[in-house]
This record gives sequence, C-alpha cells and structure tokens, in this order.
Amino acid sequence: MTTARTEVYGVIGWPVGHSLSPQMHTAALRALGRDAVYVAFGVRPPHLASAIGGLGALGVRGVNITLPHKERVMQLVDALDDSALSVGAVNTLYRDGERWVGSNTDAAGLARSVREAGVAIEGSRVWVVGAGGAARAAVVGLAQAGASSVVVSARRSEQSTGLAQSLAGGLRGTALEATGFSEPELARAAERTDLMVQATSATLHDHALAEAFAAALPLASLPVHAVVMDLVYTPLETTVLRRARRQGLRTLDGLGMLIGQAALSLERWTGQEAPLAAMREALASGETSGDR
Ligand code: NDP
Repeated sequence: MTTARTEVYGVIGWPVGHSLSPQMHTAALRALGRDAVYVAFGVRPPHLASAIGGLGALGVRGVNITLPHKERVMQLVDALDDSALSVGAVNTLYRDGERWVGSNTDAAGLARSVREAGVAIEGSRVWVVGAGGAARAAVVGLAQAGASSVVVSARRSEQSTGLAQSLAGGLRGTALEATGFSEPELARAAERTDLMVQATSATLHDHALAEAFAAALPLASLPVHAVVMDLVYTPLETTVLRRARRQGLRTLDGLGMLIGQAALSLERWTGQEAPLAAMREALASGETSGDR
C-alpha cells in the first residue's frame, strides 16, 4: 500500500452529497492537529467493489460506509470484526496492515452517547420502536451495554420477530421480546420502559403523518422517569420528542448517535480521543438536514 503525506479519510455512499460526516470529521481532524482531509465519495452500487479495491493503492487511511452499501461491503473486505458481525452491517473500514477490516460503530456509538448524556443503561428496560437497520444497531448496542431487557415493536410484526430471532443467541444476559403495533402491545411495552428509542423513519421531517405516528404511540403509559430518544435528527425535535417533552419526560435527540459513531470511527483510525465538542459545534454551525 502507498501512503500519501496528507492523510485521506472519507465516506462512501450513494447519494452522499447531503452527508454530515465531512463537516463533522473535518472539524475533528483539524482540532486534533492532523494534516488530513475527509471527503465524500459518491460511489454508485455497481462501482463499490472497484472503489473498495482501490482504497489501499490510493493510501486512504479509513472510510465510513453509508447507505446503500452497509451490508454489501461486508463481502468486499478482508475481515469483519465482532461489532460488524453482531450488527450485520459495516459503517467503518480501517486498515490492519495490508488488510481492510469492516467494523460497526453505530451500536457502540449509540450506547456511548446515551451514557455521555448521563442515562444509565446497565440493568435498564429498553423499548425500541422500529425494526430496520438503526433499530438493530440500537438493540445490539444497548444489550451489549447491559440493558436487562429489550422489547422491539414494529408495524410488521414479522420484522420485529425476525430481528429478535436473529439476535437471540448472541445477546446473553438481555431478555429480547418482539411485538407488533397493536394498542395493547404498545401500551404494555411502554409501561415497562426506562429508555425508549424511536428508530423508525416515520418522524423524518415534520408532517401530518409524523404527527399521527407520534399520537398513536402510548407515551402517556411511560413511567415518569423514562427517557425518550429519537434516532432521527431531521428535525432535531421530532414529533415524538415534542410530545414526550410536553409530558415532562427527558428527551435525547439523534445527534448523539451520529456523533458517537463518528467518534468511535475516528478513534479507531487515529488512536486519538475524539474532540466531541468540536464535532458538536461543526454540526451546530452547519445544516442538520441530510444523511450522514
Ligand atoms: P430502515 O429503512 O432500515 O428502517 C425503517 C423502519 O421504520 C422500518 O422498520 C419501517 O417499517 C419503519 N417505519 C417507517 N415508517 C413507519 C411508520 N409510519 N410507522 C411504523 N414504522 C415505520 O431505516 P434505518 O433503520 O436505517 O433508519 C431509520 C431512521 O433512523 C432513519 O430515518 C434515520 O434518520 C435514522 N438514523 C439515525 C442515525 C443516527 O446516527 N442518529 C443512524 C441511522 C439511522 P417498514 O419496513 O414496515 O416500512
């Protein structure tokens, strides 16, 4: 592998123009005093294999992987670490000598952001709403961080059941349960929750459907000490967070996970502690209107 003098990092996705990762990582690399750039690589799906194959020759130090490549890239790397295997998706590639290793920082990044907000995960009862990729990372991250139970609710109950079944063997110490979206199922889950994680895309953008989705969730059944997190960060205060806040519940927005996963990628690439304040500031000064 060749090594360029200026370190090159980036994010590979398609489309990738709205990614927030360049502004966040550029600010972080600057704060760390590194001679480095972080760029967005728009790579169409048919070109993914050749893009990954060329990273080493170009001397690239590390990349993030975003939609739609997070699963397909698993077949294109030299090795997968435990985090990638447990989540079943890769969002970070790092070099180990001549090899490219696929890793996943979404799950641990989410848990780190919850802990940094002062919310205890160990022994807590978690309720995850949604059963797509972000929900899966939430279940793995919070279970591995010591949640005592995780209930996953999806409007298609086969999706939540499938998620729970695929993880059942690997998450020892955490009771996993899958439910559908019927009123009694949701109310029962809410009553037993310390931390609720909204992980569907239903709250993306503030519109009538997002309001109807939030109104249908039995937030009133949550205990008064419950914390409500929404992984969506566009808008920062989603319809679910707005309702939870009005009810007097503590809320956490989706920027925490975004920063948490980026911090872990950066630490893996550089061996330096991520400058969280600089990363947060970079997001606050830009528009949080895109994907990562
Ligand atoms: P997926 O498409 O993989 O999953 C979306 C999930 O939302 C599915 O379970 C889907 O169900 C469900 N859903 C969508 N609309 C509704 C609705 N109206 N009612 C009930 N369920 C609904 O997306 P991801 O899991 O990758 O991402 C989900 C959201 O999380 C994204 O919008 C993204 O903004 C956010 N995210 C945030 C991150 C962060 O760093 N903060 C990281 C990754 C994602 P169905 O299959 O039935 O449609």
